[in-house]
Amino acid sequence: MAVRLSPEIEVDALGFDLDHTLGFDDRLELRTMLRYARGAAASHGTAVREHASALLALARAGRLTIDQAVAIFLGAYLSASQAQAEVVRWREEVVAEALVGMRPAPGALACIERLEARGIPVAILTNGWSPLQEAKAQSLGLSHLPMLISEQIGALKPAPEAFAALVGQLGTRRERTAYVGDDLDDDVLGARAAALVPIWVPERNPAEADLRALPEGVVTVRTLEELAP
Ligand SMILES: [Mg+2]
Repeated sequence: MAVRLSPEIEVDALGFDLDHTLGFDDRLELRTMLRYARGAAASHGTAVREHASALLALARAGRLTIDQAVAIFLGAYLSASQAQAEVVRWREEVVAEALVGMRPAPGALACIERLEARGIPVAILTNGWSPLQEAKAQSLGLSHLPMLISEQIGALKPAPEAFAALVGQLGTRRERTAYVGDDLDDDVLGARAAALVPIWVPERNPAEADLRALPEGVVTVRTLEELAP
């Protein structure tokens, strides 16, 4: 069985990004971090939010672990010993919230269900940490899917090693494997550079200029349902 994406493009398997592609956590990490510095947030205003956002961005880029990012953040507003204890509590709390708080992307669950019913291999490749990403998948009812998490495989998208791990998991050829994501750089251009078939599902309506600037071979869909009608 194969999935036809266009008259010229057909694939045997699909990999999916998790955040903002299969589901949304509505800034769960940021919201929970701010809750731990509520007093400071009240007196420092938006600076606290920007501080947390900047640290999370460093964690997403692999330059800090998530525990380091949260410890630095809490260390700025709490005593050192309090901050250390709160990092552990934060970790547990954010995972517990993810287990119940994910919002599926439009058409995402139907798409996965239909691909599976057709015998198409499907897996998740996600930048993030464990066990948060597993909790998100569980909340979406997708915990049965194979999932590759950057923290565990030691490679962050858009690195080619991340996509190589996905292809290894799916057991297909790169040029017959699609990767579906919302992020133009990490997902779409990363998958393309690794010789997979990139599918872009933009979170918002893309500007005409963005669409014109897309490299050849990128398939764009509005919702995931279009992939498995
Ligand atoms: Mg994403």
